[in-house]
Amino acid sequence: MRPEFSRTYDDARRKFLEAAMLCRSEILTNRYPQTGPNGEDLYTDVVRIGSSRPDRILIVISGTHGVEGFCGSACQTEYLKSECAARIGEQTAIYLVHGLNPYGFSWLRRVTHENVDLNRNFVEFENRSLPQNSGYATLFGVLNPLTREPETLDEPDPNIKAWFASPEKIAAFKAAVGKGQYDYPHGIIFGGTSATWCNRVLRDFVAALPRTVKHGAVLDFHTGLGERGGLEIFCEDKPDSTEFRRCAEWYAGHTVTSLGDAASVGYEITGSIFQAFTRSQRSIQWTCADLEFGTENLVKVLLALQADNWLHCFSQGVSPLAPRIQEMMRASFSPEANEWQAIVLQTGTSIIRQALTALNDLRL
Ligand SMILES: [Zn+2]
Repeated sequence: MRPEFSRTYDDARRKFLEAAMLCRSEILTNRYPQTGPNGEDLYTDVVRIGSSRPDRILIVISGTHGVEGFCGSACQTEYLKSECAARIGEQTAIYLVHGLNPYGFSWLRRVTHENVDLNRNFVEFENRSLPQNSGYATLFGVLNPLTREPETLDEPDPNIKAWFASPEKIAAFKAAVGKGQYDYPHGIIFGGTSATWCNRVLRDFVAALPRTVKHGAVLDFHTGLGERGGLEIFCEDKPDSTEFRRCAEWYAGHTVTSLGDAASVGYEITGSIFQAFTRSQRSIQWTCADLEFGTENLVKVLLALQADNWLHCFSQGVSPLAPRIQEMMRASFSPEANEWQAIVLQTGTSIIRQALTALNDLRL
């Protein structure tokens, strides 16, 4: 395990804040309404470096999916340590949002304490016409088994195996499961019934950005999809849009795909955190990108998610299998192999630099 990485949320946060303080950054903290597994307080921290009246900003987010935060946090910290304020143009600011979902980060879960997938939570709940996902309904029982046995914890059941029999079936499965659902609070990829605390914190942050900002770039760090150690950059805009073309140009040299594209390892989703930016009242032009680093194969990742969901939703978080399930979550979302961590750090920090260069070159 590399020293830039951590095994606990507390450790990751300490390293991040130490690096931020050395850079004399402005630090804002938001305390989560629940505590971590050891009773510790949890925070979403926002660090700003660079101009206080920028016309362009870069926002780098870790921990949207809780346990995936170890990767983004290590890249944020490494960036602060290696660059600090170097390369930041006079009219530029960088905001590092650490642990957007600190609950999932500390509990080694992908979700918030309400079992909500934060990256599906940005829908308009007040309109009461939540996105429908009939594909998920037919898969509910297969995806969310009520019992788990030690012997079969790492084994997909025959129904899941059948869904992985051909590329077409895998694509249909990913589309139905990954899109998100709003009907089953005890199921995986649940988008919630109202805006979560993390959702409000992010929207308040966007609303409070300096009035001088004209262009914002967002990099949201994720893990769990794609080739091990590989990076795919997802843009939610269609391939023929100006936004997608800008994304592809900025991150040239990397695989940039549009979510929902047949060529993408990703899938179309509803209610992503990018809505907090693009649907805000601010007249800012946005270039939003998800960074997805591959870890394990899709079946292993799914098994980890199912086991974790079973532990917390159907076993009240108590089971002799809990330590094994936590290790499955680590393996799927925060591998501890040196080689994986080294390549992720190198790629992640170079993308941050690439985004900054592109922003500095923008004519506004
Ligand atoms: Zn993720």
